[in-house]
Amino acid sequence: MCGFCSNPTTPYTHDFDSMRVLVDDFVERGYFGIILTGGEPTLHPELPRIAAYANEQGLHVRLITNGSRLSQPDFAQALAEAGVRLVHVSVYSVRPEVEARLRGTEDTLPKAYAAIDNAARFGIEVNINCVINKLNADHLHENIRVLVGQHPHIRHFVWNNLDPSMGRAEVNQATFTPRLAEFELSLQRAMKLLHKSGRTFRVEKVPLCYMTDFAWASTETRKIVKGEERIVHFLDDKQTVRQTEWGHIYTEACDVCSLRSICGGLFDRGDGYDPAELHPVFVPLQPVVEHVLGDGTDPSQKPLSFSQWKKRFTRAERDESAPAVQRDASLIPVGRVTDRGERLYAAKRKAEGRKAEASGIAMERGQDEES
Ligand code: SF4
Repeated sequence: MCGFCSNPTTPYTHDFDSMRVLVDDFVERGYFGIILTGGEPTLHPELPRIAAYANEQGLHVRLITNGSRLSQPDFAQALAEAGVRLVHVSVYSVRPEVEARLRGTEDTLPKAYAAIDNAARFGIEVNINCVINKLNADHLHENIRVLVGQHPHIRHFVWNNLDPSMGRAEVNQATFTPRLAEFELSLQRAMKLLHKSGRTFRVEKVPLCYMTDFAWASTETRKIVKGEERIVHFLDDKQTVRQTEWGHIYTEACDVCSLRSICGGLFDRGDGYDPAELHPVFVPLQPVVEHVLGDGTDPSQKPLSFSQWKKRFTRAERDESAPAVQRDASLIPVGRVTDRGERLYAAKRKAEGRKAEASGIAMERGQDEES
């Protein structure tokens, strides 16, 4: 019931067979791993089975979850036995009242904390995911202090700036979409704390002028430097999306910026952010690139010097006019819409509509109302 959910309920359903085809496709493409996410992937009854299948095919399997089911030790054990190697538990705020407002549900924090400890107990590595939004923008560093203090085994954090273009996030933009300046200071403090403690982190959808000291931690920058792609299978009408370009929008300020060629710019989908907030930076590019290339924690990274990279990067035909997100030509269907799925969807939308009204958030447009 998060008010900024970008992938809420749809009439599509997935079963083991429909998921297996997608796993096989990733294996054929030579992918290192997959991330099972949602909505909330632990609600799917066949999750351990599909995780085990992907693991058997040699893929590194990870999961993004709110931790509610993972707070049960039996479930954590089942995932570990299925070969899930890494879970990202989402925690948006360590302040209970803020977390409840963001989640649209009370008392989720104790479960997330239990999930963090359960996963570790059964040998699953734990990362923390956090969506940056208007309500937690001023205490991202406080989140880090509390989480690291309570669960010192957590070694890696991921921040995603809110995507205001889809689902419930789109219709609740005014409530949850932050201005970049609102989180700049707290994000800087949070990154400093982690870096000082020897932990690692990634930040997505934040332009480099708002994280200049840690530009190497930007997901877009890392993808641009390494020339990586990402395929996302959406369990809705979007179906399969393949991302090969990581630039969003750039303004005149970017023309004179030293990091322009490796910066993802401003994530502008949904018109949620203000281009006037961008400002050029004048720091050397080479140390940023070298930091990304020298990352020993990335198993897919081949050793490459800066000059080798520069030659390849200059030669590579980056097509920035191409949309950052493209529909893939692949026709593999992602789930299907059945009569049963339609009935479940109608019932869920009713129940979620009541909860949304009670917590004062707007419901996303239904599948048949999407523009
Ligand atoms: S000014 Fe533009 S290119 Fe430079 S860091 Fe900001 S968004 Fe990136």
